[in-house]
Amino acid sequence: MRTKVVLTGQVWVASDIHLGPQAPATVEAFKRFLDQASQQAHALILLGDIFDAWIGDDIALQDPPAWLSDILAQLQHLASKIPLFLGRGNRDFLIGHALARHLGAHLLPDTFILQADCGPLLLSHGDEYCTADKNYQRMRTLVRTPLVQGIFLSLSLHTRRRIANWARSRSKQANRNKSAQIMDVNPEAIQYAWVASNIDTLVHGHTHRPAVHTQLYLGRECTRIVLPDWDYDHGTPVRSGWLSISAAGPELRLDTFV
Ligand code: MN
Repeated sequence: MRTKVVLTGQVWVASDIHLGPQAPATVEAFKRFLDQASQQAHALILLGDIFDAWIGDDIALQDPPAWLSDILAQLQHLASKIPLFLGRGNRDFLIGHALARHLGAHLLPDTFILQADCGPLLLSHGDEYCTADKNYQRMRTLVRTPLVQGIFLSLSLHTRRRIANWARSRSKQANRNKSAQIMDVNPEAIQYAWVASNIDTLVHGHTHRPAVHTQLYLGRECTRIVLPDWDYDHGTPVRSGWLSISAAGPELRLDTFV
């Protein structure tokens, strides 16, 4: 049984913000977004890769650097006004219950149904649809094993950082040699999700290719909405955006905050 989240009013969804010390302007833009969300939305869902790296709630909560403690305080403030939901991406899959509790947020499973005013939507970070990338999928299964996560989280901060940096540089190197097609979602995995869930609208991030794709599949009008990534720190034009879901349906908003 899939988790179902029932939300009424305006539901905002964003992902792939990749917050971190390497992206101070993105952090500032995201703070402005959170301000706007807490005033205009009735719920906020963050669908993974909120952070560019996350090597344990304990480290983040015990001694957060200034940029992080600012963001955490603002998320906490938002969660005191509207429901906040946290999904995990491939960069921040180690976000856990301690962070959710600290923020007053709800931790989401990898895939879940959002029952909104316009009907049901199937939401996930999106990396599980990239099934053509076999090496990545093997890695994904491994790092999501509770035993592997438990061992990693028992290591010192120093060791965790070293392993995370090593894994990141290996992944960057590997991605350089992969075709654009391999790094995108697999059309068959998407079609399978439409059929298995019996839901016509999928929403995901991860690929950084914002778009609304619509196609007729087995007599159904099916839609796949891809969220944008955020970047205010590496050249122009800057990028950001989110999905606003209301009774009128989902609307992809590629607005910026400058
Ligand atoms: Mn991702």
